[in-house]
Amino acid sequence: GAALAVPDKSVDSVCPYCGVGCQLTYHVKDNRIEYVEGRDGPANSGRLCVKGRYGFDYAHHPQRLTRPLIRRADAPKRADMAMNPEDVLSVFREASWEEALALAAGKLKTIRDQHGGRALAGFGSAKGSNEEAYLFQKLVRTGFASNNVDHCTRLCHASSVAALLEGIGSGAVSNPVRDIEQADVAIIIGANPTVNHPVAATWMKNAAAAGTRLIVLDPRRSELAAIAHRHLQFKPDTDVALLNAMMHVIVEEGLVDEGFIADRTSGFEALKANVAAYSPEKMAPICGIDADTIRYVARLYASAKSAMILWGMGVSQHVHGTDNARCLIALALMTGQIGRPGTGLHPLRGQNNVQGASDAGLIPMMYPDYQRVDNPEAKARFESLWGMALDDRPGLTVVEVMKAIKAGEVKGMYIMGENPAMSDPDANHARESLAALEHLVVQDIFLTETAYLADVVLPASAFAEKTGTFTNTDRLVQLGRQAIDPPGDARQDLWIIQQMANGLGLDWRYGDVAEVFDEMRRSMPSIGGITWERLQREDAVTYPCMQEGDPGAPVVFTDSFPTATGRARFVPADIIPAAERPDADYPLVLITGRQLEHWHTGSMTRRAGVLDALEPDPVALVHPLDLADLGVAPGGVITIASRRGEVSLYARADDSSPPGAVFVPFCYYEAAANRLTNDALDPFGKIPEFKYCAVRITPGGTP
Ligand code: SF4
Repeated sequence: GAALAVPDKSVDSVCPYCGVGCQLTYHVKDNRIEYVEGRDGPANSGRLCVKGRYGFDYAHHPQRLTRPLIRRADAPKRADMAMNPEDVLSVFREASWEEALALAAGKLKTIRDQHGGRALAGFGSAKGSNEEAYLFQKLVRTGFASNNVDHCTRLCHASSVAALLEGIGSGAVSNPVRDIEQADVAIIIGANPTVNHPVAATWMKNAAAAGTRLIVLDPRRSELAAIAHRHLQFKPDTDVALLNAMMHVIVEEGLVDEGFIADRTSGFEALKANVAAYSPEKMAPICGIDADTIRYVARLYASAKSAMILWGMGVSQHVHGTDNARCLIALALMTGQIGRPGTGLHPLRGQNNVQGASDAGLIPMMYPDYQRVDNPEAKARFESLWGMALDDRPGLTVVEVMKAIKAGEVKGMYIMGENPAMSDPDANHARESLAALEHLVVQDIFLTETAYLADVVLPASAFAEKTGTFTNTDRLVQLGRQAIDPPGDARQDLWIIQQMANGLGLDWRYGDVAEVFDEMRRSMPSIGGITWERLQREDAVTYPCMQEGDPGAPVVFTDSFPTATGRARFVPADIIPAAERPDADYPLVLITGRQLEHWHTGSMTRRAGVLDALEPDPVALVHPLDLADLGVAPGGVITIASRRGEVSLYARADDSSPPGAVFVPFCYYEAAANRLTNDALDPFGKIPEFKYCAVRITPGGTP
């Protein structure tokens, strides 16, 4: 290959992809990133995965948006469109920033004035900085005058957060990933860290090699399962049966931590009564794991000196996602496996800033730092900080917004950096909703499937083109530094949000990103002690950090929980089946998820040269026995259909899921997996059931 150019500058930043939060250095020549190296951050100690190391050149891709775009009057919004970025100028015309902003904000203002603030909604992004998230939710709450603001946390860990807030008073992790090195036992459930949190997976592997016993609970066999002490490949959708059976054993065999339960929790008696009905012998046929194995892992976890639980979307993305997480919390509480190093609860956060975007208030029922919008004291605090009256009604969540558009209730939207046309469940329906909006403003770096349906497209900045803070899965607030300038007329997102706010009648005059961070500190006690100067000096500070000079606390809940009583709460759960079960017409189960090389809806990684070369085509992972039944050879084309849509793609023979379950990554626009998924919601977290719906497969089709 070509020799690497000698860089003319090197800029320390963080990785733009997953929640592990690896620190890296961009090496830049002539405003181009030449290569990336890992550096010695708390989460990665110099390590990077293939995305972090090679996934940077999307920033220089020729399809970057470089001018504001306004939809041509005669260009119809086609929900069934075939995405073709080459045709952009047949649908849109280029415009000046002045004209585009006047139209973008002006029409939102008109809708607000005619129909009220609840006729508008905004989606921010877990890929943006904390400062962008904060300003975006402030714009919606003060400029739109409603709480209709959300982001993809709703599609990811909303159910885990609902259960954690209810049970222990905080939605963030109790211990960092690398605490696994101090754990005797670690349960990893519904997660495939080698693919989705690759550098975190290397710490898990190191821990296993040093003696930590990994218990992988997962219907899919992952690389980590292969090195686990035990892998329980339970039947998809039976998490509550399995976890309640484990708790049954712990109660029955007297392995509970009575002191911890008495001193630090409430509600144990109700939980105990509930799990009494879930003996391993009764649950074995339901979850597909024999009673002896259930008893063995329950004893192992309960009697370990220190044991940790880490989980991912396999737990959260179900109509019973909140119940799944409630069971994990109860397991940790009844055994006292929380509040010490090497113990605790760790929902592995997906995007590089999904923790921070949630903390900063990109959620419809909470102001920054999880202060509820319907709590009069919190509302008064933010009214005084922001200098205007606020709406105390919780807003609509991601999927609810799509339904409200269909009902004519939401008429205008501002979407920054998210791609619901690809990421929402039942994507055909979501696209029809987006196309039905009177006014859609999309701020992004590419003409995404969502931007294609916009009235105004605002060209924004890529990760390496701006400075801001990002909070990783360990609650580490880290500084990302600008390494290159945005191309053409593309602008930094903070500037665009501020222009939009001013267009909506708000008088905002933020000078720079540090000023926004300072305002956040004033409204968010958890980061109140973190100064911009310290971030510049140290690059990473863990919250809670309430006072300047606090070291920050990687392990929390050491002597109390942040609830009104200081106690954690047990919440029992019973079995609720998936919303759509296989039947004669749709006999297979669809599980959606990610691939190592591609990130979410693929808008960045599919435009990164190395990553696209590694995984160029849409694939489905189908069990070899199912493929044989279909008469399809590995590599052949199949069509997968659900009651909501169909996609055609290449079949890869893969026995990591059991026969009857097919896995499809959701990153391929040509075969958008979410055309198939079900938008049934968990009633508490309002998260859709991405991990289970009924499909059928037929040979052939056109990928
Ligand atoms: Fe980036 Fe995550 Fe890979 Fe680290 S593990 S390099 S944060 S994608």
